[in-house]
Amino acid sequence: MVSILITAGPTREHLDDVRFLSNASSGRMGCALAEAALAAGHPVTMVLGPVERTPPNGVDVRSVTSALEMQAAAQDAFATCDVLVAAAAVCDWRPAVRAAGKPKKQAGSQTLELVPNPDIVAGLAAQKGARVVFGFALESASAGMPAAIARGKEKLRNKQLDAVVVNLHDVIGSEQAEFVLCRRDGTDEPLPRCDKRQAADHLIAAAVAMWRGEGAQDAR
Ligand code: C5P
Repeated sequence: MVSILITAGPTREHLDDVRFLSNASSGRMGCALAEAALAAGHPVTMVLGPVERTPPNGVDVRSVTSALEMQAAAQDAFATCDVLVAAAAVCDWRPAVRAAGKPKKQAGSQTLELVPNPDIVAGLAAQKGARVVFGFALESASAGMPAAIARGKEKLRNKQLDAVVVNLHDVIGSEQAEFVLCRRDGTDEPLPRCDKRQAADHLIAAAVAMWRGEGAQDAR
């Protein structure tokens, strides 16, 4: 049994108690990863942003709203995990100030000051020790897969990941996905277009194999 931590879903960055910035992540990939890990017999913890979807029974779910909450919950759960799969769509910025209540609408245009959020997976990977850390790189489909892979590999290096799952942005909210798994050792493995659950089975097997010190071939 390999203890698996998954970050998933979007984050919400509140301007006030009612308004927020967020993104279109459905948490579907994260839930598919959790199902795959459970089906393979592994204990699963999910740090999950606000989503409609209910994670599978048996998952230890830590529900969060903002990136800062996600960072704290992920840091806590990271201490006891073997493998982290970071599938969350963390907002890059948050409002510099959060107002209380619901301030009244004002006439004319407004300027919003945003400050950067921490990179959660990079912060954890920097202290990973023997753990295996997989990240996702969702890239613009317009530039094509080779450019997406190049950008994914930059993230692999910059965030000190063990592997990055490159996918094209047209997968958001869809059942199907097209992935290339790029490992730190330079092996790139394209997955045929398949549903997210099939892809999740493959990614969990690959992460567990890496944690066990097995070669890329063993996970196939
Ligand atoms: O840089 P980009 O957002 O494309 O990186 C995506 C990867 O980094 C995903 O694995 C995502 O979960 C993770 N990430 C994070 N914290 C952030 C931004 C991204 O953990 N603030």
